[in-house]
Amino acid sequence: MSPTRTEALPSHDRPRPPRRHVPSVVLVNTGDGKGKSTAAFGTVMRAVARGWRVGVVQFMKSGRYRTGEEQVARDLGVDWWTIGDGFTWESDDLGRSEAIARSAWEQAAHVLAAGEHDVVVLDEVTYPVNYGWLDGHEVWAAVRDRAPATNVVCTGRNAPEELIALADTVTEMRNVKHAYQTGVRARRGIDF
Ligand code: ATP
Ligand code: MG
Repeated sequence: MSPTRTEALPSHDRPRPPRRHVPSVVLVNTGDGKGKSTAAFGTVMRAVARGWRVGVVQFMKSGRYRTGEEQVARDLGVDWWTIGDGFTWESDDLGRSEAIARSAWEQAAHVLAAGEHDVVVLDEVTYPVNYGWLDGHEVWAAVRDRAPATNVVCTGRNAPEELIALADTVTEMRNVKHAYQTGVRARRGIDF
């Protein structure tokens, strides 16, 4: 389908919809290109600058090494939950990764409902849902039914349709090229 005339216009020339006030928004950063988490942490920086309360739940990162963004965010007063930091995996029935994801989800569900944060980042939340470790319907319902003033940023590849539908702003990072594909390993200060 070719873009319509309206789509081809820069955004400031488009007809404006009537103004609408909402207490909070849901952002989704998805796609196979680099920048999903980076953009989420850019939003965290903005929120902190406004004196907002910010929470980050990381679903996949290894707790063994602390990312640079985690260290800075904690120093700025951001509440940060990651593996090895309150998440447990003391289950015989589940694989370690699945148990960690479920534990992260329990924390995230609490934070979304509590209304104690102005921005909550669910970093890499799409992966445990797409792997079937978390019930997607439960996750998206909790985002939809969150405390009204809590803005949410979700990151991860292959965001499910249900999440895209409920989000206000969805950005797809497209991979043009990535250093990793030519054998360059993840770099401190650039990738973590
Ligand atoms: P970043 O945290 O750098 O913004 P991301 O959140 O978009 O990346 P993830 O899917 O969370 O990407 O992947 C995590 C790791 O994989 C990061 O170290 C990131 O730099 C790297 N990465 C992201 N996109 C690609 C890609 N297209 N090819 C190879 N590695 C990638
Ligand atoms: Mg990421």
